[in-house]
Amino acid sequence: MDLSFSAEHELFRERLRTFLEEGWTRPRTKGEKVDASAFRAAAIERGYLYRGIPQRLGGSEQAPDVVKARIIAEEFERVRAPGEIKGVGTQMLVPTLLECGTEWQKDRFIPRTLTGEYRWCQGYSEPGSGSDLASLRTRGVLEGDEWVVTGQKVWTSYAKQADFMFALVRTEPDAPKHEGISYLLIDMRSPGVDVRPLKQINGGEEFNEVFLNEVRTPADWIVGERGKGWLVSKSLLKHERNMIGGVDRSDKLFSSLLALARRTMRDARPAIEDAWVRDRLAALKARLEIMRYSSFIQFTRENQGQPAGRTQMMNKLYQSNYAAEVARLATELLGDIGLLSPIGVEKPGSERWLEQYMNSLAAAIAGGASNIQRNIIAERGLGLPRDKEQ
Ligand SMILES: Cc1cc2nc3c(=O)[nH]c(=O)nc-3n(C[C@H](O)[C@H](O)[C@H](O)COP(=O)(O)OP(=O)(O)OC[C@H]3O[C@@H](n4cnc5c(N)ncnc54)[C@H](O)[C@@H]3O)c2cc1C
Repeated sequence: MDLSFSAEHELFRERLRTFLEEGWTRPRTKGEKVDASAFRAAAIERGYLYRGIPQRLGGSEQAPDVVKARIIAEEFERVRAPGEIKGVGTQMLVPTLLECGTEWQKDRFIPRTLTGEYRWCQGYSEPGSGSDLASLRTRGVLEGDEWVVTGQKVWTSYAKQADFMFALVRTEPDAPKHEGISYLLIDMRSPGVDVRPLKQINGGEEFNEVFLNEVRTPADWIVGERGKGWLVSKSLLKHERNMIGGVDRSDKLFSSLLALARRTMRDARPAIEDAWVRDRLAALKARLEIMRYSSFIQFTRENQGQPAGRTQMMNKLYQSNYAAEVARLATELLGDIGLLSPIGVEKPGSERWLEQYMNSLAAAIAGGASNIQRNIIAERGLGLPRDKEQ
């Protein structure tokens, strides 16, 4: 297997490195705030960011090239240069508008979402409608030239900070459950929007309940056709799964665990010398290599223009569980000090492993819970009979 890049791609990497050396100065101290907007604008101009987005909408409009995209990710990460703004706005809403939105919706929302001016939240889950999302009950009624939306969303990440929500709303109550949903955009400052933060076990407040009480949104703030929101949301979930995958994070996580095992003392010697710890580390390292090769399969398929299909889903599932296991071993190594890491407080040595552990549990639920992923892999990938409940 030849895993090297072509001469053309190596040249691309060289030019990118020069651009980064000349254009990006790393903050001198941790936490130092830098204004990245001028750098990002230059990177877009050179074709390094938002490559799939037309120039008129603020992207760099480059031909798709999975290898170049990979090189860009590697090189930006290497020097910690600010890349594309991450979040549900850029990673979920923008691709969906490009696929299903009208021209005015693209012009109105995409450019300012790319620069971070518009922040979004995802209004899908409801009490009782998570995995079985199509059972959602928040309703939307068309009154003149406005939708009137009433209901409740839950687990809405960063709703408190968001300017807009993209929401799934039942607009055709008499249609079969998958066909009665529309995809609406809602201004979070509208009268009737009530955001209530949920206190998490780690002390944070990233999630919210969002109550929508006769909230009005313009009739043409619907993406795709009326009653076809389920199809629109399907394309979104595809993007979200993409967003969570990637072996680089697992690589970093394992390296930090290794460093922790080297410096943590157990019975008067470094933990890494303990047979029990070595066993667990070796198993985790083996799993890391499995994930790496699996990600190469996904990468190759995408590069050849083939759908990554179930490989991508398997990678997402495997990696979310992996992060939880790495963090679990780290907290065991740390012992009591591992518990002294509440959110926002840095404890020397603990490296916020407890928080990492809690976050890894959440990652196995967000964007499709692991059991649901297993169902899909079993049914679509392995051809097993469908779940009776569906
Ligand atoms: C970090 C994080 C961020 C999130 N952000 C958002 C957000 O911004 N916006 C938003 O709308 N939602 C968000 N969510 C909610 C998320 O989409 C839901 O939590 C998820 O879809 C699961 O739904 P649920 O919590 O209702 O669990 P349930 O659907 O009640 O599932 C509970 C358990 O039962 C299992 N289960 C359910 N059905 C089946 C089945 N048919 N077969 C086998 N097992 C099954 C599940 O795997 C799970 O273990 C977020 C969640 C997390 C953890």
